[in-house]
Amino acid sequence: MTKKNIIIAIDGYSSCGKSTVAKALANKLHYVYVDSGAMYRAVTLYFLRNNIDFNSEKQIRQALENIHIDFHKEQGATRVLLNDEDVSDEIRQMPVSENVSAVSAIKEVRSAMVKQQQKMGARKNVVMDGRDIGTAVFPHAQIKIFMTADPKIRAERRYLELKNKGENITLEEVFENIAHRDYQDTTRKESPLVRADDAIILDNTDMTEEEQLRFVLEKVEEANS
Ligand code: C5P
Repeated sequence: MTKKNIIIAIDGYSSCGKSTVAKALANKLHYVYVDSGAMYRAVTLYFLRNNIDFNSEKQIRQALENIHIDFHKEQGATRVLLNDEDVSDEIRQMPVSENVSAVSAIKEVRSAMVKQQQKMGARKNVVMDGRDIGTAVFPHAQIKIFMTADPKIRAERRYLELKNKGENITLEEVFENIAHRDYQDTTRKESPLVRADDAIILDNTDMTEEEQLRFVLEKVEEANS
């Protein structure tokens, strides 16, 4: 691929493996990977730690001025920094998961994050995953993928992931959280999760990671032929 500044947007429901595909794709193509959900999670962590009232526009604006989010690579893995502190693990835990959809529905939060995301994709080839990448952040992305999978399968995958990390949680709690986030993400006023008209659907219920990567790589090749 020789064209400059290519954007691959991967959107979809919670826990359907967007980041796994996005990371593998970025690796393969030597693109930068941006996990936009991690940014909303980092903002949520900051709000929780600092007792920010989600209904106070003033507190939200002030907080956003004090939040600096960065990604950096460490031994091949991307780490998330919130004001220089590595919060990669904490932002995946339940307190953040339970509040992130409420925080990401706030207009001021979205406009601050979208601005940063657009800057990240301004001069580089990027694979970015999230909920509104192909609709709001990069509506002109060259390739748009919309990922989905059976909710039960998604819950099982995320449950195993959290269990392996030592989290004390039940499958039902994970299922509830995913269903709740899907509901909030698809029904919110600001940039709800919706498939862009020109996005290709990838339902990975019965697909391996290799099959998903192959599927997306084929679409990238088709788009460039
Ligand atoms: O991708 P992940 O599940 O980590 O995202 C966490 C939450 O952040 C989502 O449930 C959604 O509420 C929000 N989000 C968003 N827009 C994005 C990415 C994530 O609203 N582009």
